[in-house]
Amino acid sequence: MMLKNDKKIWLSSPHMGGSELKYIQQAFDENWIAPLGPNVHGFEQDLEDFLQSDSHVAVLSSGTAALHLALIMIGVEKGDYVVCQSLTFSASANPIIYTGAIPLFVDSERETWNLCPDAVEEAIEFGISKGKKPKAIIAVSLYGMPYKVDEIKAISIKYDIPIIEDSAESLGSAYKNQKCGTFGDMAVISFNGNKIITTSGGGALITKDIAFKKKAVFLSTQAKDDAPHYEHTHIGYNYRMSNVCAGIGRGQMEVLEDRIAKRRANHQFYLDIFSELPEIEVHTEPHTDYFSNHWLTAIVLKTDSKVSTETIRMNFLEQNIETRPIWKPMHLQPIFRDLPYFGGEVAQELFEHGLCLPSGSNLTEEDRAEIGKVIRKVFQII
Ligand SMILES: *Cc1c(COP(=O)(O)O)cnc(C)c1O
Repeated sequence: MMLKNDKKIWLSSPHMGGSELKYIQQAFDENWIAPLGPNVHGFEQDLEDFLQSDSHVAVLSSGTAALHLALIMIGVEKGDYVVCQSLTFSASANPIIYTGAIPLFVDSERETWNLCPDAVEEAIEFGISKGKKPKAIIAVSLYGMPYKVDEIKAISIKYDIPIIEDSAESLGSAYKNQKCGTFGDMAVISFNGNKIITTSGGGALITKDIAFKKKAVFLSTQAKDDAPHYEHTHIGYNYRMSNVCAGIGRGQMEVLEDRIAKRRANHQFYLDIFSELPEIEVHTEPHTDYFSNHWLTAIVLKTDSKVSTETIRMNFLEQNIETRPIWKPMHLQPIFRDLPYFGGEVAQELFEHGLCLPSGSNLTEEDRAEIGKVIRKVFQII
């Protein structure tokens, strides 16, 4: 295929701030090339300050590792049920399988694209009818959009089931002025290369309970008991973040607010363009209680749209511009197809008619002009 642009426009690519190397240099100067050291603690402190709550943070090797530890600490074991949003990345669900538990996949509601409260109750009632009340609810804030926090929290309280927030995509998002990641019993965030800030690979566990933080640090560093020799009373994991990666994180924290502003500006750019096109719906905040970091801006085509998402995607690709379908729901994945599912076809419809558009904080004016040109061509607007 002939690509018109030499420079690829990515969906979401790493965007360094400038001082990351300073923190890495410090790690080298002081020889803290290990999964412990001043950057690890500094990064945790930066995150705690940013979240502006009484949360404690443990930085880990990935968001997936954080979710695995959260499930273990809640006491999820083989054969247990865990309620999980279906419309998400597979890493929301895989750690349930690591523990031997069974995911109960749940549909989305149409406003935020996250957990449908009615379907969550259905899943919980199913578990109870089998004599196994689900042990946790994994609530995702998809593409940065907070889930219906009040409704899901009410269900969590009614049935006394803890919420683990999968805030991998929503660092900096907020609901009623409170930051995502501080609503649940525990939460996880991700610093993978495509996320709003990155440490190349990394994640964090957020918790209000200092005992959970201490336990996460203990388990993530091979569960070594307090003894001069190696003594073990627990199964350990090698899940702690490296002090070198944490140095990248410290640098990235200095520019996080700017990155959120840039992604939100991209989102506004798309809202403006698509306001002329009634067959397109942009995934946006339902009302002012919601504040999304707009990690990715996604659109859905209404059923009467003249063009398909695949046509749009191919037109972008010809210009060397990356777009992606919405996450394929977990209940439709070959590996999870036989597991229980609750709800209707909202997640499936969003997958079939949705598309994520380039949303990186490093998009330039020229990039946006190129993107605008493709959209105008596909929809023939002058
Ligand atoms: C990225 C992501 C994860 C996993 O985070 P890693 O740091 O890549 O392990 C989990 N859930 C969601 C929704 C994600 O987008």
